[in-house]
Amino acid sequence: MDYLPNILFAIVLIVGIGYFIKNVRKLIRNINLGQDKDLSDNKSKRWKNMSRIALGQGKMVRRPIAGILHIIVYLGFIIINIEVLEIIIDGLLGTHRIFSGIGALYGVLIGSFEILAILVFIAVVVFWIRRNMIRLKRFWSSEMTTWPKNDANNILYFEMVLMTLFLVMNATDISFQEMDSGNIISQYMAPWFSDLSENTIHLIERSAWWIHIIGILVFLNYLYFSKHLHILLAFPNTYYGNLNPKGQINNLETVTKEVMLMMDPDADPFAAPTEEAEEDPGKFGASDVQDLNWVQLLNAYTCTECGRCTSECPANQTGKKLSPRKIMMDTRDRLEEVGKNIDKNKGEFKDDGKQLLDDYISKEELWACTSCNACVEACPVSIDPLSIIIDMRRYLVMEQSAAPTELNNMMTNIENNGAPWPYNQMDRNNWVNE
Ligand code: SF4
Ligand code: SF4
Repeated sequence: MDYLPNILFAIVLIVGIGYFIKNVRKLIRNINLGQDKDLSDNKSKRWKNMSRIALGQGKMVRRPIAGILHIIVYLGFIIINIEVLEIIIDGLLGTHRIFSGIGALYGVLIGSFEILAILVFIAVVVFWIRRNMIRLKRFWSSEMTTWPKNDANNILYFEMVLMTLFLVMNATDISFQEMDSGNIISQYMAPWFSDLSENTIHLIERSAWWIHIIGILVFLNYLYFSKHLHILLAFPNTYYGNLNPKGQINNLETVTKEVMLMMDPDADPFAAPTEEAEEDPGKFGASDVQDLNWVQLLNAYTCTECGRCTSECPANQTGKKLSPRKIMMDTRDRLEEVGKNIDKNKGEFKDDGKQLLDDYISKEELWACTSCNACVEACPVSIDPLSIIIDMRRYLVMEQSAAPTELNNMMTNIENNGAPWPYNQMDRNNWVNE
């Protein structure tokens, strides 16, 4: 019976990690629903970007208060979780603080974890106040409906509880307190429990230990359903971020080929079309998530819903319906819907009569974009909402001829007059005589 807690722990661990792996596989499958895009180039630049932006939090500090607080939470999250390794080994082997054998270094480690735990707790409380009491505008825009708001708060409560449990676990661990090394914060909490019997203190310590590790496993599995997936995805997302100069719009390969052929003076206009030319050119642009490329879908899962993009967006600032954050949230929601459809239909997508265009993102939103790239520049994790907007506009123009009248007029003028204005080329210089 002595092994019962260890067996129980192993079961909890297997179930927690197993469910997480199942969801990660689903996540990868959904991202792979996107079109292929080869990003195996510029490896060293990509690693550099990832180290600077994701690991070094390079873009977060552009807004110093949020940036510094986020760095504390991020460091706390990474460093304190080293201690989870000890919990796992103890849980499986039935040992107690197995790493304490390393001597003075153990005290240094746990001491720094305790300081970080307090700092994380304070940072999280400040985040909560900014969100719920100061009510920063970007956290209360229309796309921040009940779930996104609750999701953001849930994770803050999670972190507060996990940090408290970590400190209570240390404060009620009599042997750890007797070591008197590393209990920098918990030594001040230990007297809170001094009136209790040794058995009760031990019970509190064990409860905190169990709830702490179960809480971490629940947190891990909550990530898939939350905007906090960015904790994991910020790394690949920044690695695969766009390396081209901002504003450089990609050309459609099939259209490029066609134009090159038209402009080639040696091309024989009466030649029979080659096999390649007869191939179906595919769909132009995107009307649903499967038409986007896999990086755009990765972007959607990585979005932290921080709203920095929307707060910089000139269209949004001038009261237009467009919010680049909503573009990313809608893409993820639709992708999840498609994923659930595939799960329900045994691995095959059955047409549900819906699509990203119109059912999630309206034409009004798409045409409100000035393509200024401010959202791309502002995003702390290298997300590119503009690329999705451009691809969806492409679909409207090239597949549906559904551009707004002003644009259609301009394109007709370019076609007929070689300029966007409705005047004959011969009359172009008339203004000189006016
Ligand atoms: S590119 Fe479009 S969506 Fe992005 S900030 Fe500019 S106007 Fe807004
Ligand atoms: S796209 Fe980037 S800036 Fe915009 S909400 Fe998502 S993470 Fe924040």
